[in-house]
Formats: sequence, C-alpha cells, structure tokens
Amino acid sequence: MGYELHPPCAESKSVRYGIMKRGKGASHFDPIYRTGELLGDAWSWMILREAIFDGATRFGEFQERLAISPKVLTARLGMLSEGGLFERHMLEGRGAPVEYRLTDMGRDFASCLLSAMRWGLRWQETKARSRHRTVVSHERCGHPFVAEFRCSHCREPVRSRDVGVVSMHRASADLIGHKRQRMPDLDVIDRSGTCPIAYTLRVIGDRWSSLVIRECFLGTKRFSEFEEHLGIATNILSNRLERLVHLGVLIASPISDQRTRFAYRLTEKGHDLYGVPLALLTWGERWLARGESLTKLVHKPCGHRLRALFCCGSCGAPASFDDLAFRAR
Ligand SMILES: [Zn+2]
Ligand SMILES: [Zn+2]
Repeated sequence: MGYELHPPCAESKSVRYGIMKRGKGASHFDPIYRTGELLGDAWSWMILREAIFDGATRFGEFQERLAISPKVLTARLGMLSEGGLFERHMLEGRGAPVEYRLTDMGRDFASCLLSAMRWGLRWQETKARSRHRTVVSHERCGHPFVAEFRCSHCREPVRSRDVGVVSMHRASADLIGHKRQRMPDLDVIDRSGTCPIAYTLRVIGDRWSSLVIRECFLGTKRFSEFEEHLGIATNILSNRLERLVHLGVLIASPISDQRTRFAYRLTEKGHDLYGVPLALLTWGERWLARGESLTKLVHKPCGHRLRALFCCGSCGAPASFDDLAFRAR
C-alpha cells in the first residue's frame, strides 16, 4: 500500500484526526472539505461542466441542458456566485436576464472536471465512451488532452502509490458529522449514461462518498476507523461503503479472525481515482487557502514535498484552461 499515515508523535490523537474545536486560521483549513462545502453536490459540477465545456452563461441554458429543477439551479448558481466561481452580469434592458460568467477561479475548476473526465473515460462502458460528446485538445501540442498530475520537483507523473502523507488535517469530525449531507440523486445526473464526468460523479458526487474515498487514500480500512475519523452515522457509512464496493472502487475482505468484520481496500479502479481528490486538493489550496495548508504530501520517488502540477498527458507540459480547446462532437 502506498499510503501511510505517519502519526505526528508530538501531537495528541485528537489533533491528528482534526477533531479540534472550531476556530479561525490556517490550522483549520481542510482544502477538500472546504471545496465540498463550496460546491454542494454533483449538480454544481454539472453546471460548471456546461459553463466550461460548452460556454453556457444563462439560467435557461443551464436548465435546458441539464433538465435540472429551477429551485436547485437557482440555489447552485447562487452558491457558485457567492463562492467566487461565477460573476453575475446584468444584461441591457429591463427585466433582461442575468449572465453567469466564469471567473479565473471558475475556469481553473476545469482541472477538476478534466480529472473526473479522464477517470470516467477510462472506466465507463466502451459503448458509452464512443458516444460522449465533448473532445478536449491541448492547443500547444495539438493532441487530445488527458489530465495528468506531475510532481513539480521531478516532473514525473504522480501515482497514488508513490505518495506518502507527512501530515494531514481533516475538518473536524464533529463538524462533518453534524452537517446535513443528503445524497443527491446521482442516477438522474447520469441519466444519458454517456458523459464520463457524470459517470465519475456517481462515485464521488456526494460528500460522504468523497470523504470515505479520501480516507481510503490515507490508509483507513476498518469500519470503526472510518466512523472515528469522519464522525459519520453507522447506517450512512454502511450504505456508502456498500455502494463503493458495488461500483468496483473498493473491495471488502473479511478480517481473518472475525468473519463479520471487513477491511475495505481500493481496487485498481479505486487507486486510479486518485487524480480527482488530488485535483480538488490542488484547486482548493490555490483558491480557498487561508495561509499554509496543513496537508503535506511527499512524492516518494524524489523525496520532495508534493506540489502537483496539472499537465497534459500527451506532451507532459503544464496546462491551463487557456491552452485547451473544447469541441462538441
Ligand atoms: Zn517528485
Ligand atoms: Zn500537450
């Protein structure tokens, strides 16, 4: 297993697991949790997909393309605007509609969408793959764009098993556990069964599932450990673990001496998902950070602190939204 959680000896267990009283400042910054808090749920990803891939800017365009309820759409556009991913612009004329224009922060979310897309394209059914509609290319090299993260120090692609955890700050388990986190209807989002991003969102599109997956990457295996680290209710945890096993992301194996207990491990499909939490972490640290993030990862092959660079998998060069061309098929 590539993940080790090195317990910082000097710190108490409660600090290690981020179970601290709420307060201000960098010591409480958990980029993945904050990103989840900002986005809400999978609908926000789909709204951003329409804006980034297809240039949608108006309420009606989002509604028509996503067949989303007006109430949910209003709430999500409000959240994303307040969070700084969209800027609202009034168009000329009385009663004219508002345009939602992406900010730099919003455009940069392309790295998260493209990481989700890469995984979806790799793992969804072949038939669905051939029908998917947007082709993304890297203008600098002219090749199809496949998201890849590289280590900023040695420039090698980052694989989940090559990353170690030096320190990790989790949002307070109390805080997470008390938040109402209803599961969005992920089947509705993936209705057409052809969008690779929607396919990935079936796995990570609700907040509990994404936090459970993050725990797996940190080396958590047992039910009781997930419960302790997340402050999650037993029934919700069983449901999410079962679902992730069903989706082929986790495998449950009985713990030798206790037949009723299981250890949960990432499958190959699960390990390959690593780019998505890494994209969220990188994006969150860039745009939401207040001070230094306490999440410190190390790239084992070169031994340096991991700072992930979003790159083109075809030519290996660092990529940004401006280098990409989105073309509807
Ligand atoms: Zn490296
Ligand atoms: Zn390229």
